[in-house]
Amino acid sequence: MPPSDNILLDLPGFKIVDVIGNNKITLRVDFEGEIKCPYCLSSRLRVKDSFIRRVRHVLYGQRPSWLELKAHKYCCRGCGKYFNSKFPGIKPRMRATEPCRFEVTKLHHNGWTQRSLSQHIGLGSATVERWYQDRFVVKNKELQNAHCPRVIGIDEHFFTRKQGYATTVADLTRHKVFDVVLGRSEPSLRPFCRKLIGKDKVRVVVMDLSETYRSISKKHFSNALIVADRFHVIRLVNQQFIKTWGELDEVGRRHRGLLSLMRRHPDRMREDQRANLNKYLNEIPGLKTIYMFWQDLNRLLRMKRLNQSQCRKIIPEYLWMIEELKKIGFKHLQTLGHTLESWREEIARMFRFSKTNGITEGLHNKMEMISRRAYGFRNFENYRLRVRVLCS
Ligand SMILES: [Zn+2]
Repeated sequence: MPPSDNILLDLPGFKIVDVIGNNKITLRVDFEGEIKCPYCLSSRLRVKDSFIRRVRHVLYGQRPSWLELKAHKYCCRGCGKYFNSKFPGIKPRMRATEPCRFEVTKLHHNGWTQRSLSQHIGLGSATVERWYQDRFVVKNKELQNAHCPRVIGIDEHFFTRKQGYATTVADLTRHKVFDVVLGRSEPSLRPFCRKLIGKDKVRVVVMDLSETYRSISKKHFSNALIVADRFHVIRLVNQQFIKTWGELDEVGRRHRGLLSLMRRHPDRMREDQRANLNKYLNEIPGLKTIYMFWQDLNRLLRMKRLNQSQCRKIIPEYLWMIEELKKIGFKHLQTLGHTLESWREEIARMFRFSKTNGITEGLHNKMEMISRRAYGFRNFENYRLRVRVLCS
């Protein structure tokens, strides 16, 4: 058999006998491979019947093609069982070859709509959708029984108005989604956590300051260290300080320009901006002290990848700050002090660790695009299937 037939057909073991038609190509092929009994692997067979199988094949220069091949019904002389001939790349009862299904799925995935595909190659749009979904099911099966990653990030994201939130479990070392689960409460996550394989090998769990996730993690990932997520901690600190600023100066708080100055990183400020901010801080009594404290706290929280001795130096400063916050006479800062105290261990681990849930937030962005592309999902399982296949 010349190798060119293999390359042309993208299927092993076939020989092209005839090519018919111009716009719609029919390739008459012969199968030259050996046929064996699927039950006892004997090759002593008797032909009982013959028939022509016509299956859709790949596009040739944008033209659809079909394969026509002779198939047989055999009787095995070894075990006496009957079977129809099986060909590589063509599954039983399918009316298209595997390369064809793969090609159509790929085109659809890369932006060809079902409508344009069905107009161009004369395939029903329901068929395109079915093939596309079949592909996801196959890919998803490959992902089943996967072991739980050692560094995971847990975060919530919005799914639908009817079904509410979903929880993402991300693999932070490989920057991939491990799984998504509907709901964000302990009862809704319990069945998922129970079934996880290798959860005792999880070393680190990164999460925002959510009490539910902390208790879930303590219960199900007993060997893991919980690390607070830097992004969420700093966001919380900023929110509470801005609220306190609002208590001191209601009008200034609503000023867009001042808000942008107050939130800006001191190193990223121009000279005139710094002067403006200083002028404003001196106008409101007490605001400058709070601002300085806020910037100190943020500087501390931004530290990462420290070694043990460096951590030992900054932890007393951090604990002192918490105590000061609790003593301050502003209610938002007191709340912040209590929150930081209850999470002090998780936050202290943040100094040594560099991974954050920024990776998970990035994956949320991608997941939102998957949802938008499908014009939203109603069925969570369908959504989960796509997220697992496309983000992992
Ligand atoms: Zn047999």
